[in-house]
Amino acid sequence: MSPVQLRTQRLCKRFGGLAAVSDISIEVRPREIHAFIGPNGAGKSTLINLLSGELKPTSGGIYINDRETTNCSASQVSQAGIGRTYQKTNIFLPFTVFENARLAAQSRLPTSMRFVRDASRYEHLNEGARAALSAVGLSHCANRIASKLSHGEQRQLEIAMCLATAPSLLLLDEPFAGMGADESGLMVELLKSLARDHGILLVEHDMDAVFQLADRVTVLVNGQLLESGTPSDIRNSAAVHSAYLGTDDHA
Ligand code: ADP
Ligand code: MG
Repeated sequence: MSPVQLRTQRLCKRFGGLAAVSDISIEVRPREIHAFIGPNGAGKSTLINLLSGELKPTSGGIYINDRETTNCSASQVSQAGIGRTYQKTNIFLPFTVFENARLAAQSRLPTSMRFVRDASRYEHLNEGARAALSAVGLSHCANRIASKLSHGEQRQLEIAMCLATAPSLLLLDEPFAGMGADESGLMVELLKSLARDHGILLVEHDMDAVFQLADRVTVLVNGQLLESGTPSDIRNSAAVHSAYLGTDDHA
C-alpha cells in the first residue's frame, strides 16, 4: 500500500470572489490522525467537501492511494475507500439505529443493486451494519429509534454509518461538537481505536481532543495553510498563537 493514503496538490476552491480553500497541499498517512484546526470560515468543511467529491475544486489535484480522484463523484470517492461524517448530524431520525447503519452499508453498493425489495435478505449488509455498530459501542441500542439517542450517541451512530461503507480513511467534520465531557471522553477512545486501522482526517474545534489524538496538526486561516507539524510544533508556533490559539475565536 502507498505510504500516503490521501494527498492534495495546490488545491483551490473559489466561491465567486471568495477563496475558501487556497493552494492547499496536504497528506494523510495510514493509521495517522491528521487534525485540521482554524477559526470559523477557515475552509475546513470546504476542504472535506472537496476531498469527498461533494464539491469540485477550482484548481489543483486530489489523489487517493496515488490514484487521481480530483473530478470523481462522491459515490466514486466512497467506492475508493473514503468515508465521511458531517458537521451537522446527518442521520435518519425516525429509523432505528440498525436501519440507519444498514442503509449506509447499502449506499456503497453499485446503483443497480441499491433498490432491492427486501434489503434484509442481503445478510452481508446486515453483518456490515452490525459490525459497524459494534465498533462504535452501539450494539445494545440497535433497535432504538435514532431520535431517542443522546447527542453523543447520535454522533457515534454517524461514525458507525461511515464505517458501514467499509472505508480505509475517514473524514470527520467536528465529531466532538456539542458534547459534554463524558461523551467527549468516549469519542476520544473511539477515534483512538479506529486509528489502529484507518487514516483519519479530523476537523475539530475541541483543542483538548485535538491535542490528545493528533499525530499531526495543520492550521488553516482564511482558506490558507498557516502551519503544519507535530502537536508540540503547533503549540509552540508564534504564528499560530497570534492567528488562532491565543484568541477566543476557536471556542
Ligand atoms: P469552516 O468549516 O472552516 O468553518 P467553511 O469551509 O464552511 O469554513 O467556509 C469557508 C468559507 O467559504 C466561508 O467564508 C463560507 O461562508 C464560504 N462558503 C462555504 N460554502 C460555501 C458555498 N457553498 N457557497 C458560498 N460560500 C461558501
Ligand atoms: Mg465547518
